[in-house]
Amino acid sequence: MGDSALPAAIKHLGQNFLIDPNIVRKIISLAEPSLDESVLEIGPGRGILTDALCRSAGHVTAIEVDPRLHAYLSERQTQFPNLTLVLGDAMAYPIEHLPLGTIVVANLPYYLSTPILFRLLEQQQRITRLVLMLQNEVADRLVAKSGGSSYGVLSVMAQYSAEITKAFKVSPQCFRPRPDVESAVVLLRTKNRIEQTRESRDQFAAIVRAAFAHRRKTLVNSLRDQGYDQKHVVAALSALHLSASIRAENLSLEEFIMLARQIHESPSSIPSR
Ligand code: SAM
Repeated sequence: MGDSALPAAIKHLGQNFLIDPNIVRKIISLAEPSLDESVLEIGPGRGILTDALCRSAGHVTAIEVDPRLHAYLSERQTQFPNLTLVLGDAMAYPIEHLPLGTIVVANLPYYLSTPILFRLLEQQQRITRLVLMLQNEVADRLVAKSGGSSYGVLSVMAQYSAEITKAFKVSPQCFRPRPDVESAVVLLRTKNRIEQTRESRDQFAAIVRAAFAHRRKTLVNSLRDQGYDQKHVVAALSALHLSASIRAENLSLEEFIMLARQIHESPSSIPSR
């Protein structure tokens, strides 16, 4: 199929197609898929990454929501027997059924980047690494450390699940149509949290969200407003040698983990849901 037959880009689906083969090469060498590994690609679009992935991975599953692009990509299935194309919304895809050891690679539609990242990281035990193209500003939030304005729920939850490296920036000129903002590619290597249960992860996430619910309030007041027992939170901070007037943005990931442990050791301090 020639370029003239390519479906026009739909803006609200975040269709900014990569056109620079050099960026494709850099993404593949970061993801390092091998012939015995499976890749999940979200939003294959016109297939520029999909083709490269099919050449280097054992199996590729590519989920595309746009039926026109899904139809356009279908011709790849004869060329690449190791490709499974799925027509659908990645947010509804059963990530919990991915084969263990899956690699996720995506040039994500911008509107989807944060929600899909939270979903993927909930299944961190199935995924070894993720190589994602995102808005540069989201990449900065992912790697942000405590104390800065980019640091928030996304930073803490993503760093809880993965070691994250911002690999390189990508200029709008590498896409058609050109996006309004700069992009960046990040590598997330998931952590092996053996002690983590679904319940402990959910409890941790609830505390982090509650802590950042009101950025200008102290952590104690934010948690109290979300139903946590104030006395217990103050005691937990004191046990960690942290000031009762500290704000969420000044707590490191490790301090959040220790705080959550302290709070959950006294279940009466947790709000009933
Ligand atoms: N991978 C291609 C590339 O690099 O050129 C396309 C990337 S483009 C930024 C994002 C792709 O995600 C588009 O093809 C778009 O149709 C698709 N998409 C948007 N929302 C989606 C969703 N909810 N589930 C799956 N794919 C989606």
